[in-house]
Amino acid sequence: MVTSMNEDNESVTVEWIENGDTKGKEVKTRLWPLRAAACAALPVHAFKTACIAAPAFSVAARRKSNCVKEVEKLQEKRERRRLQQQELREKRAQEVDTTVPNYEILYMIRDFRASLDYRPLTTADVIEEHRICVCVRKRPLNKKELTMKDLDVITIPSKDVVMVHEPKQKVDLTRYLENQTFRFDYAFDDSSSNEMVYRFTARPLVETIFERGMATCFAYGQTGSGKTHTMGGDFSGKNQDCSKGIYALAARDVFLMLKKPNYKKLELQVYATFFEIYSGKVFDLLNCKAKLRVLEDGKQQVQVVGLQEKQVKCTEDVLKLIEVGNSCRTSGQTSANAHSSRSHAVFQIILRKKGKMHGKFSLIDLAGNERGADTSSADRQTRLEGAEINKSLLALKECIRALGRNKPHTPFRASKLTQVLRDSFIGENSRTCMIATISPGMTSCENTLNTLRYANRVKELTVDPNQVMEGGRANNHAVNQLDVSDEEWLSISPQRDDLKLLCEQNEEEVSPQLFTFHEAVSQLVEMEEQVLEDHRAVFQESIRWLEDEKVLLEMTEEVDYDVESYATQLEQILDQKIDILTELRDKVKSFRSTLQEEEQASKQINPKRPRAL
Ligand code: ADP
Ligand code: MG
Repeated sequence: MVTSMNEDNESVTVEWIENGDTKGKEVKTRLWPLRAAACAALPVHAFKTACIAAPAFSVAARRKSNCVKEVEKLQEKRERRRLQQQELREKRAQEVDTTVPNYEILYMIRDFRASLDYRPLTTADVIEEHRICVCVRKRPLNKKELTMKDLDVITIPSKDVVMVHEPKQKVDLTRYLENQTFRFDYAFDDSSSNEMVYRFTARPLVETIFERGMATCFAYGQTGSGKTHTMGGDFSGKNQDCSKGIYALAARDVFLMLKKPNYKKLELQVYATFFEIYSGKVFDLLNCKAKLRVLEDGKQQVQVVGLQEKQVKCTEDVLKLIEVGNSCRTSGQTSANAHSSRSHAVFQIILRKKGKMHGKFSLIDLAGNERGADTSSADRQTRLEGAEINKSLLALKECIRALGRNKPHTPFRASKLTQVLRDSFIGENSRTCMIATISPGMTSCENTLNTLRYANRVKELTVDPNQVMEGGRANNHAVNQLDVSDEEWLSISPQRDDLKLLCEQNEEEVSPQLFTFHEAVSQLVEMEEQVLEDHRAVFQESIRWLEDEKVLLEMTEEVDYDVESYATQLEQILDQKIDILTELRDKVKSFRSTLQEEEQASKQINPKRPRAL
């Protein structure tokens, strides 16, 4: 009898001769730690009792001892397993790259993700009709973030849920994840293309403008989170491809719709505008950045005076305009992002029937929301830009919320952005969509949470805790809004009170000091406009004075000129000059004191910087 210990150290292979035939058995020894040699030494009957019975196998016709073969096989297996384990260890060692800052967090996120059941949005999902659609788009980690070994802290487990894994630290310094869950109409993960995002967001709005409606689509988020990529197209690298942005995709569908029999008979013409709102001022991107004035008539119709509307006949025409506008937008700027972070870009597709407005689609690439916190900057220009961004994003939120509730009064006058878009927030047939773009990195976590909270307030959707698996925490924000009734509204004067209303509606974000600052800024901006307007008028007048004086002086060259008349006329001119110049000087004086007030007010803003909106 031959026995050999098997690989598992618990069984032995036994071979013996029975009727001239070699038989074998794999048996488990009960006499552990009985060694193979000891087993072999046992008499057959004793050996049998020491083993658990196992079916015998015939090893006849095998030249090499079965036992040896088995051992070899086992050795091979063992070797293979060892290699596999080695590989796995190496792979894990690479993954557990301890040089990655926060690798424990990385592991916690991985484990969490492993427990999820992923059901991402697909083209097979139903495109729902929403009057207000709010969705989120996560971009992939970019090169810079990858180089920095930043972690991806965002998970999109399903078509409408976004999870943020926020790293936290306990008092005893142990680290843990706080997983926050938000729900939106749609959530796009980093593998979603612009076409996919467009399909669920802006595309359903194209029909609205053919049905005499107004549509708006906003890209909202922190600088670098993908707003321009989503709206304008892929601008990375040298070759700008604006054909893949939502501006162009919407234009393409407008021309397709135009061919449908229903709409063809309307004989609509398509126009486009492209402008920028920077620090409360409007600049025409299709007309060399000409500065435009926004006027409101008695019927509350808002007009951007002189805005160029270019007629477009096909998608290519639109692409050309986008290119012109984009190069105009960033011309003279050291970085496209540095500039665009501070301005809102508005691209509009307008349908007209015999010159009369039929429908309008406004697509807006908003300023970086983190700039709303610049109100406490030491630099005035930065402060004013920040104030305008802070105000406009708050006002935008309120205007969209009001649209959802069919509330007629909104603080649209509190910012230029909402003022110029006013007609899109009213009316039965107005629809809007907001795409909140987020960066996936841990370094952007705070801004990302701010973006998600804002988007969540635009449209409060609640999270069904059963829908999201363990770890997901419902995030139901209480509606804490100071509702102003229509009667109350009517008793307040418009214009500046819009700001008051806006601040009341957003008490959590706007401290009384910030409100005072906003008021000072509004006054400053208003006065700046007046001073500039007056100065221009005085300048024109001065040219006339010069001409009059020239004539007067020429008159004195005459031998017999009328001294009396000369003196009277000169006095008249001087009186007029003094009056007008004194008036302008007084205005400039009070403008200067307003500048000081603004500076004082900016210093009073709570040391705690207001959150990015
Ligand atoms: P924003 O306009 O919000 O400041 P950008 O659109 O300029 O941000 O995006 C910043 C960078 O990230 C760009 O280089 C852009 O190409 C890239 N990016 C943004 N979104 C995506 C995406 N979904 N897929 C791939 N790259 C993206
Ligand atoms: Mg941008």
